Amino acid sequence: MKKFLFIVGDGMADRTSEIRSFTPLEWANTPNMDYIAAEGINGLLNAIAPGIAPGSAEAHLSMLGYDYTKIKNGRGFFEALGAGLIPMIGDIVFRCNFATINKEYDIIDARAGRIRERVRVLADLIKRELNEIDGVELLFQESLDFRGSLILRGKNCSSEVICPKIMQEGEKAIIKPVKDSKSAIRTTKILNEFIETSYELLRDHSINVTRKTQNKFPANVVIPWKGGYVSDLRAPPNNWNLKGACVGAVSLIKGLCKFINMTVVDVPEATGYIDTNVYAKASAALNLLEDHDLVLLHIEGPDEAGHDGDFEGKVEIIEKIDCMVGLLLDQIAWEELYIILVSDHATPVDYKDHTADPTPISIYGTKIKKDKVKAFNEKAASKGGLSRIRGERIMPLLFDLTK
Ligand code: ZN
Ligand code: ZN
Repeated sequence: MKKFLFIVGDGMADRTSEIRSFTPLEWANTPNMDYIAAEGINGLLNAIAPGIAPGSAEAHLSMLGYDYTKIKNGRGFFEALGAGLIPMIGDIVFRCNFATINKEYDIIDARAGRIRERVRVLADLIKRELNEIDGVELLFQESLDFRGSLILRGKNCSSEVICPKIMQEGEKAIIKPVKDSKSAIRTTKILNEFIETSYELLRDHSINVTRKTQNKFPANVVIPWKGGYVSDLRAPPNNWNLKGACVGAVSLIKGLCKFINMTVVDVPEATGYIDTNVYAKASAALNLLEDHDLVLLHIEGPDEAGHDGDFEGKVEIIEKIDCMVGLLLDQIAWEELYIILVSDHATPVDYKDHTADPTPISIYGTKIKKDKVKAFNEKAASKGGLSRIRGERIMPLLFDLTK
């Protein structure tokens, strides 16, 4: 029985720059990933298409064989599902960040210093005090660290609002309507009131007073962003008929996998950051492989380090992933298990956001004919036997290569 293990280092691919002639993957010590590349077939992947910098959701949907263009619900929907909310058709769903703003509502830190401790206390306050505005029900749910979700449920709401691009410098925590429609203006008012009230509630909270004395950014506001209208609660079909499961930390990936009917397990030691416990995730993946055909093992850390512009951090998490790959290689007991080692997109440390650079992909397993590539990195992969492929071709390729 064939089994497939996708190991996705989110945003793991990178690019060289004027100050650095090597990428984190080239610099990191990765004997186990290099083994997979050397024993497998390699190529360069554009999860969507050349020239398109994908979001993680559409990249993963494509790699798992789904037509992402058919799923209109938006990123907030997946976040909400992963966070444990139950969106309904007609809801407007946003992803949210606890963030740091100043009195002028300038965003100072979009992740509130990556707050992790006692977020629950702040979130409970938001849930208690901000559950309805102007007759619209508000459902807020915190997820991992600074992340959360917000559902607007009520009549005359619209997703046609412009949220701040919170990772960009100079943005204000203010929502604007896309057009002059009544519902867009009303939704904008509700969201801005949500932001303002969250600021009033959190600004002088004792947790934030303490954070400031520790020179940490206070989580003094909740900013909704990346909103979408929920129009479909059922995933489009795929052709593979595989029983899938997912091991991941971040709500986006967990929610997306729930949506496409994969089993989703929680690994408490998974943090979605450089300090994640990759061994706990690997052992969860091995357990799931016992009774699933396809397991997605998602590691968020490289993307976070990329967004932070943290080269050393990215190297550190890549080397951790490598150790995890080593552990998996040691423990694999199935004759026909295929490993797909890949990154969903590049998040270059010098650019601090996703780019359209192609990412290395290696496919390893019994029936795979190896090529001449000896290492897992961007440059080596360009000489691989798969050449350059798109995410949507991965599943057909897997079934063909393993015939
Ligand atoms: Zn990603
Ligand atoms: Zn990212």
